[in-house]
Amino acid sequence: MSELKLPTYADVVAASERIAGHAHRTPVATSRTANEELGAEVFFKCENLQRMGAFKFRGGYNALARFDDVQRRAGVVAFSSGNHAQAIALSARLLGIPATIIMPHDAPASKIAATRGYGAELVLYDRYTEDREQIGRDLAAKHGLTLIPPYDHADVIAGQGTAAKELLEDVPRLDALFVCLGGGGLLSGSALAARAISPSTKIYGVEPEAGNDGQQSFRSGSIVHIDTPKTIADGAQTQHLGKLTFPIIQRDVDDILTVSDEQLRAEMRFFAARMKMVVEPTGCLGFAAARAMKEQLRGKRVGVIISGGNVDIERYAALLAP
Ligand SMILES: *Cc1c(COP(=O)(O)O)cnc(C)c1O
Repeated sequence: MSELKLPTYADVVAASERIAGHAHRTPVATSRTANEELGAEVFFKCENLQRMGAFKFRGGYNALARFDDVQRRAGVVAFSSGNHAQAIALSARLLGIPATIIMPHDAPASKIAATRGYGAELVLYDRYTEDREQIGRDLAAKHGLTLIPPYDHADVIAGQGTAAKELLEDVPRLDALFVCLGGGGLLSGSALAARAISPSTKIYGVEPEAGNDGQQSFRSGSIVHIDTPKTIADGAQTQHLGKLTFPIIQRDVDDILTVSDEQLRAEMRFFAARMKMVVEPTGCLGFAAARAMKEQLRGKRVGVIISGGNVDIERYAALLAP
């Protein structure tokens, strides 16, 4: 463990300079209804309004912008069925780097089309019989491609941390910050930023109840692996935290909380009805946990990162239905 070089707040600052003018500085939204319902002041960082619809563009662009000439010419490879694929595909197009994305052939058609639309080459595989990491490693070795993983990479973590950095610059003195948690790229990056800018802010990671590997890991002190959890929060269906994300989370995060799919659906309805925003299920994790903790948050200043807004419209309608 001691040989692992963990990213620092200086890396988050460098990332914010690298992505400036390429990623959006997303707005911070407030809602009188949210404030009244929680008895607190709530500030939402709207990464559902980020380019390609999620914060993952920050980490993807930061990682690719650091490629040297040899890496740029050869290209990048990534495996993902979700937002990381689109983040890498779009960043690669903007930087003129060839991209290969490995996706399950039964991924939502809209995600396959979006990734292809950004000009990436797609390699489709069977998620029940083939190993995407092996396919990725083989392609990387054969063609000299650089593999960028979705969360366990120093440049990805540093890029994701820029969302919390912006939020704390726009809204100083937050008492608490709620961050969605899958593999921990967003949470570890956010923790680096928050600890540096606002040391007294309490930082909470929030997972789906069915996939609480992060909470188990945090409490037991070593990385716990689980089977792919069944939850509507498809951005948080990760099986374990990363070798880089876990030690940062252990050191800098105050607690890991969980919420049910029913709570996520209630917040999807809240964002649609009250704030006129499309938020994907995973993007609702933070606010659902804040609402559940409202007794402790009374009178406090609360930051919530809304991580993304990518959800197929038919699925969205079905999830909103009572
Ligand atoms: C990837 C993702 C997450 C989880 O992020 P990690 O860095 O893996 O913890 C949360 N929300 C959305 C919308 C995502 O795409």
